[in-house]
Amino acid sequence: MQLHETPILDEHWQGFELSRDDVFRYVWIWHGSNIRLIAVYADGLSCEYEHGWCYPRDPELVAKAVADWDPDTQDEPMGWHKRPTWPVRQAPRRNENPQHNRARCEHGSYFLDDGCRVLNCRDIRAHEDRARSTARGTA
Ligand SMILES: [Zn+2]
Repeated sequence: MQLHETPILDEHWQGFELSRDDVFRYVWIWHGSNIRLIAVYADGLSCEYEHGWCYPRDPELVAKAVADWDPDTQDEPMGWHKRPTWPVRQAPRRNENPQHNRARCEHGSYFLDDGCRVLNCRDIRAHEDRARSTARGTA
């Protein structure tokens, strides 16, 4: 990943590019009461973004999360509270960092180990439903 010393203004997205790799440019934009970090295809051909993560409105926090992130081995950065996109990003060498790449719910929690602070988290419900149907299937 190429991390920019100074964020680059992106006129199209009206945001700031923090870094890029072979596939994506990572740009933050103001988004309602949040900042959304988005992964935009670096080839510039698509007008959509492939992945997004919502953060508090704190550009320094987002810049630090991106600086600390290794997109080659880590599926997603840390510190976000909502993932509005699907499917979850998969790092090209994700097998090298299984601890970081454990399943996370749409609120960013490692929900299988830590649960989720959001009541009625959809990912936890889906996990429980799958566990129930598996249990029935093997009975
Ligand atoms: Zn959750």
